[in-house]
Amino acid sequence: MKEKIYTIPVSDAFAEDCECPLCVLEKKLENECIEYALGPSLMEPDMRQETNEKGFCKDHFEAMFNSQANRLGLALMIDTFMQEKNKKFQNIFNARVASLEKDANSGLMKNISNKISSKQTETDKLVQELVGELDKIEHSCSICSKLEHTMDRYIDVIFYLYFREPDFREVFDSKKGFCLKHLKQLLVSTKKYLNTSETAIFTKKLMEMQITNLNRVEKEVDWFTKKFDYRYNDAPWGNSKDAVLRSIQKIRGNSNLKQ
Ligand SMILES: [Zn+2]
Ligand SMILES: [Zn+2]
Repeated sequence: MKEKIYTIPVSDAFAEDCECPLCVLEKKLENECIEYALGPSLMEPDMRQETNEKGFCKDHFEAMFNSQANRLGLALMIDTFMQEKNKKFQNIFNARVASLEKDANSGLMKNISNKISSKQTETDKLVQELVGELDKIEHSCSICSKLEHTMDRYIDVIFYLYFREPDFREVFDSKKGFCLKHLKQLLVSTKKYLNTSETAIFTKKLMEMQITNLNRVEKEVDWFTKKFDYRYNDAPWGNSKDAVLRSIQKIRGNSNLKQ
């Protein structure tokens, strides 16, 4: 049996009527991670080391700031993160600053020959190192890492339950499909967790369900547009009132859309 810590949230998410159960799982997990980052994590030296190293992406900085919770805790994390990164920039810069002076005084011929031979100068090396460091900061976030890791655990559990628990399979097959991001994640993960026949069985069911439901959402959006035509004034809205919101979620997954 798979660990309960993952099976319970999976079963709960699949019990909800929604456009993507993985979005439900992800949103809940994300909220927990944000709460944890601004609470207990501040007292954990291991976690502080991780947030100093990875920091947070724009979305998660925004979510923490906008939650209005523990502004001091957020400030403490930003402070130590910046201390660490500022030191790093200073060290990279200091190590090559002398060669900048030298390259700054390169004559015309040297400039041309370096350009032609695409020889890497000391200045190029410094620029490359700085860009590398900035890339790291741009693509790392301790909450995103945690989400990625735990979502992978959830997917492992989903496959496990699908092939071993007939009740779960029945629930799974009765869903409305997934957002495109999580559809891709499920398809990509078959390689890691399923054998050939399992992959074929799962992909057939998944794609039948997905295509049916993508068509349903498209028709709901289409009906929404028709409702702006006076000829359809008196026709019922059906499921189309929130079709624009749900279609965006279907295409892009969790989004902060206001009703
Ligand atoms: Zn999703
Ligand atoms: Zn993030």
